[in-house]
Amino acid sequence: MLKTEEKVFWFVVGSQHLYGPETLEQVADHAKEMVDTLNSEGSFPYPLEYKALVTTADEIKDVMKEVNYQDKVAGVVTWMHTFSPAKLWIPGTKLLQKPLLHLATQYHKEIPWDSIDMDFMNLNQSAHGDREYGFLNARLRLNNKIVVGHYQDSEVHTEISDWMLSAIGYIESQNIKVARFGDNMRNVGVTEGDKVEAAIQFGWTVDYYGIGDLVEEINKVTDKDIQETFDDCSELYDMEYRDNDQDFFEEQVKEQIRIEIGLRRFLERGGYTAFTTNFEDLHGMKQLPGMAVQRLNAEGYGFAGEGDWKTAALDRLMKVMANNVSTGFMEDYTYNMTKGNEYIVQSHMLEVDPTFAETKPRVVVNPLGIGDKEDPARLVFDGKAGEGLTVSMLDMGSHYRLMVNTFTAETPTEEAPKLPVARVIWKPNPDFKTGVKKWIQAGGGHHTVATLSLSLDVILDWAKLVDIETVVID
Ligand code: MN
Repeated sequence: MLKTEEKVFWFVVGSQHLYGPETLEQVADHAKEMVDTLNSEGSFPYPLEYKALVTTADEIKDVMKEVNYQDKVAGVVTWMHTFSPAKLWIPGTKLLQKPLLHLATQYHKEIPWDSIDMDFMNLNQSAHGDREYGFLNARLRLNNKIVVGHYQDSEVHTEISDWMLSAIGYIESQNIKVARFGDNMRNVGVTEGDKVEAAIQFGWTVDYYGIGDLVEEINKVTDKDIQETFDDCSELYDMEYRDNDQDFFEEQVKEQIRIEIGLRRFLERGGYTAFTTNFEDLHGMKQLPGMAVQRLNAEGYGFAGEGDWKTAALDRLMKVMANNVSTGFMEDYTYNMTKGNEYIVQSHMLEVDPTFAETKPRVVVNPLGIGDKEDPARLVFDGKAGEGLTVSMLDMGSHYRLMVNTFTAETPTEEAPKLPVARVIWKPNPDFKTGVKKWIQAGGGHHTVATLSLSLDVILDWAKLVDIETVVID
């Protein structure tokens, strides 16, 4: 997965001085033990580090300042072992600029009725401390996550893991840089949006480049560079010549590889992690990028067609959260409307993300009806099956809206010998008719980012962190 930094989450336990040093020592020991257990049993995507026991406003403020300052820290998990007066948390919590998870848990699972006394009650009063701390976060109107349950419970582990992914999404969202080659496709509405607002709300940088800047980079690629990648491709994919003679076929494939190498160099040089193309703006290029885009998607670059920078940035964001597993740009293309077996065919004119491939991708060279360029090479495959969700981001004029529809994907069983693009098919939830209708009604776009590896909670937690209006169809 392309360019993501190592991240950790800090664990901070709250208390106060009222209980004396012995009790506080026990609180710290319990917290360390809890963190060790969470790391070994939780299967978290990122490590949790015990950071501090905090008992004063200054200590809390210092920890939160450090959370903000340290790039490797993606967020903070707090636990109230005892009662920690909420006013102590005001200065530090107000400063915190990273995701916060309040873990409402406790050290013991069962009440030891035979031995319980007031010392035990005073040491183990999370129920008490949780409410005092929760009040403050509610009053500060924080977008914090609250996870409730014993720390050895697997549901608690899943909730923390999901939140970690959304927190990573939130942090990495601030680093997303999209290069747009050309503007949006002429006359298309849903791909437009307010870039200033996207920078403020999501942290996205969206830069325009004339296609000539890319062409210049593409023209610098040498035949030797191309041959190396061509050899790799011959091993990774099946070359499907169809009606093309071998020389012509290979020439077209090598042209895509030239574009791929040029694109990668351009993106690397500018620190871009996502990009868009537009088939209406290809002056100086021989082909619309097809296989080139798909291979960059496989490396973790976000992408969307027709200048759709919102979806390209969203693609990169979701790829980061999903560690680039079965996640990518998708387009609602055509329906199957057989009663009882309704589904939507997802594809694009070339650029279907190979992280969805169930079958070994085939390289196909075929004419493209639009764009008026040479026959582009593209990877053709059938999509994986599984439970997933698809996400669209819309500019509603006064605000951004995030739409999510869950679905069941199936691997196609019918052959499609004349279809020169990859295909993914899915059945929207709760059923075809309702799913499609609600999607259209709320303005859901034809460009989406789909995933078979992120749960709805990850998306919703991220949406909460960036404070975006969300419509869920499930
Ligand atoms: Mn499109």
